[in-house]
Amino acid sequence: MAKNQTVSKETAFVRETTATGNGASQPRNGGNQQDANPHLPSGAQPPRPSSAGNSHRETSVPSVSAYAVAQSQLDRVAASMHLENDMLELLRVPQRELIVHFPVVMDDESIRIFTGFRVQHNTTLGPTKGGIRYHQDVTLDECRALAMWMTWKCALMNLPYGGAKGGVIVDPRLLSQRELRGMTRRYASEISPFIGPEKDIPAPDVGTNAQIMAWMMDTYSMHKGYSVPAVVTGKPIAIGGSVGREYATGLGVTYTTRALLKRKLGQNIEDVSVAVQGFGNVGSWTARTMHERGATVVAVSDVMGGIYNSKGFDPRHLKAFAAENGGSVVGYPGSDTLTNEELLELKVDVLVPSAMEGQITAQNADKIQARVIAEGANGPTSPEADEILNDKGVMVIPDILCNAGGVVVSYFEWVQDLQAFFWDESEIRRQMERKLLMNLDEVMGVTVRTGVDLRTAAYTIAIQRIVDALKLRGIYP
Ligand code: NAD
Repeated sequence: MAKNQTVSKETAFVRETTATGNGASQPRNGGNQQDANPHLPSGAQPPRPSSAGNSHRETSVPSVSAYAVAQSQLDRVAASMHLENDMLELLRVPQRELIVHFPVVMDDESIRIFTGFRVQHNTTLGPTKGGIRYHQDVTLDECRALAMWMTWKCALMNLPYGGAKGGVIVDPRLLSQRELRGMTRRYASEISPFIGPEKDIPAPDVGTNAQIMAWMMDTYSMHKGYSVPAVVTGKPIAIGGSVGREYATGLGVTYTTRALLKRKLGQNIEDVSVAVQGFGNVGSWTARTMHERGATVVAVSDVMGGIYNSKGFDPRHLKAFAAENGGSVVGYPGSDTLTNEELLELKVDVLVPSAMEGQITAQNADKIQARVIAEGANGPTSPEADEILNDKGVMVIPDILCNAGGVVVSYFEWVQDLQAFFWDESEIRRQMERKLLMNLDEVMGVTVRTGVDLRTAAYTIAIQRIVDALKLRGIYP
């Protein structure tokens, strides 16, 4: 680690591409990108990826398909719970997949064709629910994996939903605000026959935010001829969003981690050091809510690199710094600079991967020194890494439990929109904590009764709930 050095390498997941883009991730010009980033205040200069948005393909982490990981996790749990083979086969594949190629008029009047996806994994428990990702490395396989994980997460939280996920192959930082709006509206229009309050309800994910949900909701509503707020969640509060949704995922990570630290390790959150990979919605709110409860956040990172200070950071100051410095925390005064790889290997009590999937693999798992891994991101740990970490006695709080606060409050938002009756913030927090901790209790119960790890226990509960419902409904026709 060197003080204020430039970061040269990134730990990243390299996706296998099953449907290719079309140059959407290429910057059209090297010109001023000042208003290109919806996450930045106007006038802020975004940090530039080193090569047209594909910089993190240059990584030392080998290629792993997120879909293969998701299927392998399912296979392992299916074996441990003696799941019938026909049920396993049914759950191993998504129910519906949509690929769209659509044109967008860019600022220079040229037309660019973008590729997007929406995958609905399983509708047994209700309409599907899951985020929309804007990222240059989005693939159909990645959407399949993320949709499958959403199915387990919703079932584990006892929500009346199946899982879905969608995305567009694009680096949103390279689009102007007008282009981003146009692309979002056209993508929403292309997938509109597929989504709806009773069918499939999108939400924000990597590279998307409340503004993008507002454009999606408006586009869908224009098609219908009336306002349909319940078609997406994670909207601005002014148009039917829920109080508490913005920070729900991060706060949920903190609630779950605090409870497990206490119950499994007898440790108070005030006494732990924390490293957070990714400083977007999930990472920044996890860092902030942990800091507010007394934890020492010694390291954080984003796609440009990481920073370290053994005395700890105030995440609110980091956020303000990033807003004024092109969206990155790198260069924060008084910090040492480190790579994302180094951050993962820090000697801390709690490591929170909250960026992309595939960050902790067989290649680096034995170098992890944290006692607890709280999965803010979806799918950050490979099955091989899980085994290594288990052997080392590291407690991994699985994504479908750890980061479920977001979908829980998204569910509250959907319910509020459908009823046109809105709850106050204390009610949202109380109900979210209750739901997370009730399901955490169930997961802990299974670990105690059967001796399995937290991920296997969480998956077992989720899969059993879906299989029970499937059997009650029967196979149509
Ligand atoms: P975001 O776009 O707000 O933030 C992503 C952060 O990760 C940014 O700081 C970005 O710079 C950083 N990043 C991107 N690529 C990176 C890399 N290769 N190495 C290090 N950092 C990198 O996204 P988000 O909504 O915070 O989502 C983060 C993760 O959490 C994703 O796995 C997402 O699926 C999951 N998740 C999000 C929500 C939600 O409510 N937003 C809910 C549950 C799970």
